[in-house]
Amino acid sequence: MKYFKCGKCQTPYKIDESKVTTNQVVVSCTNCSANNIIRFGPILVAQSKEKVKQFILKEGVNTLGRNTKNPVADILIDDEFVSRKHAALHIENRDNKIFISIEDSGSSNGTFNKNKVRLKTGLKYPFLPDDYIIIGLTKLTLKIN
Ligand SMILES: [Zn+2]
Repeated sequence: MKYFKCGKCQTPYKIDESKVTTNQVVVSCTNCSANNIIRFGPILVAQSKEKVKQFILKEGVNTLGRNTKNPVADILIDDEFVSRKHAALHIENRDNKIFISIEDSGSSNGTFNKNKVRLKTGLKYPFLPDDYIIIGLTKLTLKIN
């Protein structure tokens, strides 16, 4: 069960996440009729100098790259030091357990773990909840609801 409160009137609710098949559900509050957006599954938080963006990760491959006029990645980062095709996040479901890994896709400036070690291109490294990696000047943190 996932428990949450209405963002407007704080009425508590619960959702059986085993019945949820999408990674986002809108719950209309029975008390105040506000729409609450409830997210499920892994989320990537991209933190650059002045802004924070959240991305819902899909099962399979999520490519990461710079936001340009002609972007080529699924997750677009506003950071000039990020390559157009920088890295990939792999979300794999094995026996209902989620495994998440990060792979550098041959970026110019590299993908670094929290110990500032540059990841080898083409290798998958485990990416754990609340762990972070650095691409360009952007910090990417993994959150699991
Ligand atoms: Zn409410």
